[in-house]
Amino acid sequence: MGAQINVLVWSERRETQNDKRAKKIYPDGINSVIADFLKNEKMSVTKAQLDQKEHGLTEDKLNDTDVLIWWGHVAHDEVKDEIVERIYQRVLEGMGLIVLHSAHHSKIFKKLMGTSCNLKWRVDSELERLWIVSPGHPIVKDLKNEYIEIEKEEMYGEYFDIPKPDEIVLISWFEGGEVFRSGITYQRGQGKIFYFRPGHEENPTYYNKEVQQIIKNAVKWANKSNKGITNYGNSPNQLGGSKN
Ligand code: ZN
Repeated sequence: MGAQINVLVWSERRETQNDKRAKKIYPDGINSVIADFLKNEKMSVTKAQLDQKEHGLTEDKLNDTDVLIWWGHVAHDEVKDEIVERIYQRVLEGMGLIVLHSAHHSKIFKKLMGTSCNLKWRVDSELERLWIVSPGHPIVKDLKNEYIEIEKEEMYGEYFDIPKPDEIVLISWFEGGEVFRSGITYQRGQGKIFYFRPGHEENPTYYNKEVQQIIKNAVKWANKSNKGITNYGNSPNQLGGSKN
């Protein structure tokens, strides 16, 4: 039942260019690993990256995309403003957007949030425990415990300069003592947005089955199966109501 979800997985592909550790873990880039585990679901999955024409995000491609997944880190500034505007408009029209890890500083996320999206970080690999604080939320469907753990991750800590989320689904605790709102949702226009914190390029986080489950769930959650009908601007009375 239901149409296939068209998912586009974008990463810079700079993540493995100058970093031997990252290259070993993600030889074909982070977007390839994410695309691979999504392909097992009922989804039509394609990939795009920074150095393609229009970053692989042409008008036609985005119009065919139900959910866009975005991972970026070192090259946020190289993403062209006109492409960011194009993604932004698509989100307002109802395209889902999943923003991963260091994409908190991507142009598209900052534009959608309207704040600096700054946070504190420490690259030492340490234990991260992500507590589910919205039990029963579709994004944490089929997780077996109250939390998931990632053995080695980069730390992100509060304060995270974001507008108040619509929902907080996960809160992380780190070995160093910090906490972080690590799974949060927003709606902008008709588009559903999920920011998900884990995924440092030097850790094998996207091979973690529970992390994969959350991303799969998030794609399904962000997909708009019912495209809303909207009319803006001057609205003549169509219903023949009050004629006073
Ligand atoms: Zn990182």
